[in-house]
This record gives sequence, C-alpha cells and structure tokens, in this order.
Amino acid sequence: MNSIQYLKAVTVLVFSLCLSSQVIAKNWLVDSQNSYNNALQQLQAGDSIILAEGTWNDFEILFKGEGTEQQPITLKAQTKGKVILSGQSNLRLSGKYLVVSGLVFKDGYTPSSSVIAFRSNKEDLAYHSRVTEVVIDNFSNPDKQESDYWVALYGQYNRFDHSYVSGKRNKGVTVAVRLDSKNSLENHHQIDHNYFGPRPIFGSNGGETLRIGTSHYSLSNSFTVVENNYFDRCDGEVEIISIKSGQNQIKNNVFFESRGTLTLRHGNGNIIEDNVFFGNGVDHTGGIRVINKDQVVRNNYLEGLTGYRFGSGFTVMNGVPNSTINRYHQVENALIENNSLINVEHVQLAAGSDAERSAVPINSSMQNNLIFNENKQQPFTLFDDVSGIKFNGNVANTSALSALASGIKQQHIEMKRANNGLLYPVSTTLSNIGAKTSITPISKSDTGPSWYAKVDSLTAFDSGKTIQVPAKDDALFNAVLTANDGDVLVLANGLYDVRKVIDINKTLSIKAKNQGKAKITFQRSTLFQISNGGSLTIDGLDISGVNSPDAAGNSLVRTQKWGMLDNYRFVMRNSNVSALDINHSFHFFDSGRGAFADYIELSGNHFTNITGDFLRLDKEIEDLGIYNAEYVIVNNNTFNNVQGALVKLYRGGTDESTFGPHLNMRNNTIKNSGKSNRNKTASSLYLHGVQVTNIEGNTFDNSADVVIEHTVGEPKTAVKNNTFDNTASPSVKELHAQGPHTALLLNNKQS
Ligand code: CA
Repeated sequence: MNSIQYLKAVTVLVFSLCLSSQVIAKNWLVDSQNSYNNALQQLQAGDSIILAEGTWNDFEILFKGEGTEQQPITLKAQTKGKVILSGQSNLRLSGKYLVVSGLVFKDGYTPSSSVIAFRSNKEDLAYHSRVTEVVIDNFSNPDKQESDYWVALYGQYNRFDHSYVSGKRNKGVTVAVRLDSKNSLENHHQIDHNYFGPRPIFGSNGGETLRIGTSHYSLSNSFTVVENNYFDRCDGEVEIISIKSGQNQIKNNVFFESRGTLTLRHGNGNIIEDNVFFGNGVDHTGGIRVINKDQVVRNNYLEGLTGYRFGSGFTVMNGVPNSTINRYHQVENALIENNSLINVEHVQLAAGSDAERSAVPINSSMQNNLIFNENKQQPFTLFDDVSGIKFNGNVANTSALSALASGIKQQHIEMKRANNGLLYPVSTTLSNIGAKTSITPISKSDTGPSWYAKVDSLTAFDSGKTIQVPAKDDALFNAVLTANDGDVLVLANGLYDVRKVIDINKTLSIKAKNQGKAKITFQRSTLFQISNGGSLTIDGLDISGVNSPDAAGNSLVRTQKWGMLDNYRFVMRNSNVSALDINHSFHFFDSGRGAFADYIELSGNHFTNITGDFLRLDKEIEDLGIYNAEYVIVNNNTFNNVQGALVKLYRGGTDESTFGPHLNMRNNTIKNSGKSNRNKTASSLYLHGVQVTNIEGNTFDNSADVVIEHTVGEPKTAVKNNTFDNTASPSVKELHAQGPHTALLLNNKQS
C-alpha cells in the first residue's frame, strides 16, 4: 500500500437536500493508520473515511464522531470485502450517527475484550449507529479460555446487520447486548439479517452465540429486536441465545441444526414469534425454553428436534420461590400459542422441579398449538403440577397425557410440505392450529454480506485426493507434509519406520492398501501429534512400539500438548496396535490440556500389550466444567493386557452448560486390563461427570472395575448386557445428588 500515493483526501461536493444551507461532505481515502488518525481529527457530519484496499495488520480502529440523522459519518472499505483487518485488530465506535461497512476481520484476534465495541470507553458510547456488512471470520484468541466478545453493543438505537460471524473458538459470547450502564438500558438495538455461521462445541460454559443482558440487569428492559438472522450449527453450548433482559423481540430467525435452545433465562415480557427451528434429528437440537413473567411465544415452527431436559424442543421451567436475581423466576402469564411442534421428541413442563425450584408455572396458557410426531410418541413430560398452564384448542396426532387431555385434541393429521419449506396439515379445519402459512423463513443467502461466501471451515475426511505412499525412508513423513486438507494417503505393503514425529495439522486419512500389510514402527516419543487444524483417520494399519525410545511416557497419538484452539477428530479402524511396552506408561492416546475432540472413534481394532492408558481424556483438572472430548465411541475392538485404564474421561465441576461428554462403548472384548499399580484410578474405565454413557455388550475378563461418578446434569448412564468375568461389577456413585444412583444396570453377567 505504501508504494501507492493516495491523495490525503478526495474532496467531493455534496449538495444536501435536507438542510437549508449547502454542506460540503468530504471523502477521506486513507492508506495508513497515520492518515486515518489525521482524517479522524477533521471529520464533520456527512464525511466518509474510506480504508484503502489491502491488508491492515494490527490496526485498532477508534472511530469517533458526531454525525446527524441526515448526515451520518461513515467508515467504509474502498471495495467491500477487500479491506482485511488482521493480526491484533479491532474496532471501537462512539458518538452519534456513525456507519461502518464492508470490513473483514480475519487471520488474527482482538487484543481487547471485543472485536467490535459500540463504545470507545466506559463513558463514551455509540448511539444511532450502524455496523453493516462486516465479516468476523475465525478471529479467535489463540488462548481458548481467554474470553472476548466479537460484537458488543452498548449505547442506544444501534444496529448490527447483514454481517457474517463464524467460527468463534475461544470463550465468550459471540454477540452481546450489554445493559451495564444507564445509557445502555432501553436500548432499542436492532440485530438483523446476520449470518451466524458454525460455532464449534466449546466444551464448557461461555459458548453462547447471542446474549441480551446479564442477570444483574435482567429486570431492566432492553427493547432489542433480533430478526431475520440465520443461526447455522451454532453448537457452542446449551444456550444458543440467552435472553437476560425484558421486552425483547426475537422474530423470524432460522435455527439450522443448532445444538441448544433459545432461552428466556431472565427478564420479562419478551416476544418470540415466527421463528423456525430445523433440527433434522441432530443430537441435542433444541427449541425454546421459557422462564419468568409475561413471555409470549407465538407462531414458531419447530421441526426435528431431539433435545431433552433443559435442551428440549420446548421447555417451561419451574421457578424458585422469591428467587434471587440470578436463579429461576417463576413462570407467570406466559402465552404460548399457534406453535407447530413437529417431530419434536421432548416437551417438558415444570422442568427442573426440585426442592429449590418448587414454584410451578401460573396464569399461563398453551393454546392452538399443533403437535405432530410421525412416530406417534407423545412428547410431554410433566415434572410437577401444571394446572397453572391452561391447555385449550391444541391438536395432536399422538395420545395426550391425562392431565392435558382436555386441552389437546387427538386426531389423525395428514401433513404436507408447503412452498415455504414447512409442514402444514392438509385439512383446512386445522388452519387456525399451529404456525401460520404466512411464515417466510429467512434463507441463508439473504443473510450476511452478499460478497462473502459461506464456506464450511470443517473439511470432511476423504474429501481430497488419494496419494500412494511407498514403503521407503521418510516417505510417510513427507507425504503428510505435502498433502492437502482432506487427502487420503494409501500405504503400500511393507515397513515404514518413522524417524520424526508426524505433525497432523490438516484433515488426513492414512490407510493401508491391503489391511494389515502396511506396518509402522516409530523412533520418537510419539508417532502422530494432532495439532491445530488437524484431524486423523487411520485405517487398516499394523503399528508396533518395538522401535520406540526406551523411556517412560511414550504415546502412539497425542494432541498438541497445550494451546490447542481447533477441535479435532480422531478415528482408527481395522488396525492392529501392539508392543507399546518398551517401558512403563506407554499410552495409546494422550490428550493435551485444553485440547477438545469433536469425536474419537475406535472400531474393529486389536490392541495388545500397552503399559500405559489407552485413552487419556482427563486433563481438565480444575473442575470448571471443561473436558477433552464430546463423543468417545469404542466399538468392536479387542484389548489384551492394557495395563492402565482403557478410558479416562473427566468433566469436573458443577456447571451445566454442556451436553457432553458422551461415551459409547459396545461389543468390545477386554482381557487382563486396568490392573497396573501405576493406574491410580484402579479401574478399567474411569468416567467422571460424563453426561451420556452407553456400555453395552462388552466382555471384561480379569480386568479392573468400571468406575462411574455422576456429578451434575442428571446424566444418562446405561450399562447393559455385559459380561464381567473375574471382574468386579461396575461401581456407580452420585457425587452431588442425594439418594441411590440413577444409572441403568441391566442384564449384566457376573462370573
Ligand atoms: Ca451459558
């Protein structure tokens, strides 16, 4: 940019039509931070600062000015999408009638607490200002637990619209409306036509996509309107949107395959209307959760939602009598009408009822809702007295619980998909039941800036080229180095003795041309290290530790030891692993602290003679509700003489903001495992705080106990149809809940 000489300012005469006097507005085209600051000093109402095309590195933009309604002050890109803010960059705006557009934040992160803040400091806020058509793409702090907002709205009458925000991986709400000072209350902000792209599972609290208010100010009104936004796989945590203030309107948004719910967590008098939720049967997809007074939930369409408990398709909570401001206020005067609940697995009423949450919903009504489940299963669960919710005129194709039967008419319903993509009853007699045909769900392409492609950042396995790798010195190492995301490396018959740690920083599959005929040994303390951006599938290989260093603490696969920001996937199938026993504590898989797997899948493998643990997913020892893997799937493997634990999966603390971790373990044969005295858990499986556990059809022979510790969140645990030969029966403990454990132990054989 420096080589190009720009005029300091290009003066353009503008004849204002709205003021009686003639006004000269200036366009300041700037190509450096200095010239930007110069222009900023001289800005008048009606002026524009134009950032020159190119990459601006480490630019903390402070945009201050006093525009007017007729003559706003503008900050814009010379060409939309061609002005990149990278490195340690951000934007603060304060003043009145400011407009910012066309900027792209990527390849960096903000050193401050927000990428875009509608204030320059605590006193100087923005009013009547608009940020439109900006992009914040994977602009995540590399320290995952370092919290920031991508957009923080302060002040009043501001608008954030037609923007693209996707790929937030570090802690903190993506877009937050702050009500933390008098001048930010009753703010009348508008958030519309934004594309909220995929937000990966965060693995603890702090992964909300949008939050309006905080519990502290939740009895204040916000008057924020959130409409026509598209939430695409916003999976951060249990709350997609967390409303914590009053008098907001959430209208005509689409939630596509997003895990979690729109939660009316605090604040009264919110209106939730004309929204569309498409779960498509994806795990933990939820809908709307109602708490507090005077909430209106009307004409929403919810389809294919699998979520349960507080993550259900529809939930009305119990409150705490005389609740403190940060607990649960009683549901009162809720109006829930004309919603369509189609293939919604769970509708939970008086949810959360317990000794503390004993205040049942009152003076509320559910009317003219349509309930249709293809499988004819009725979706309601009642956790307490729900006579405070009047049921009237609802229609279902399922049976109804007797307590609700008078207000839910059961009948045969034939459904048909209309041109707007939604299902409606064919019969015109039902035209006043459920969501109206006038809903027009916002399409993905009508959100975000039109000039920025909505490309998935996650590369699927086997989506690239297939590359043959000969069994020669360093051939595998070099092939990994030069492969592209999604490629498949096919190993020939023969021995690959790997001299150097293979860094996996892209999505790769490594497969044997002939199952079991490609053999790998390795000379370093690990064979594969998965680092940021990496995901690995191994298929059909024969891997031995015989050439590994004679030292304690080797591993076959590990993640980056610390500072991992990207979630990863690890799969191993149809492979043999043996002789990880040259010294003690030779682990199969070792997670680093802070690393998080979307899933780890092991199926159809044989594992023999391992002196350490098999899966070490227990590195988050601070008990903050953080853990190392969302789904762990171990099916159809044999384990012989694994001296440590097969799985250590640990989620400590009492926070309830996550759906995981999950463990699925079926049809494995485990012999002589878990019994080393170096295995401090003295167990073959050590599961602490795991939320969903299925251990089924396995044979444990002469192995250490299965130890399951339930913490919070009403975990679902089933241990069924297993055989425990010369192995103690599973131990299940409730660490927080009173009374007997809630695990299902069924049909296990003990001998
Ligand atoms: Ca949360």
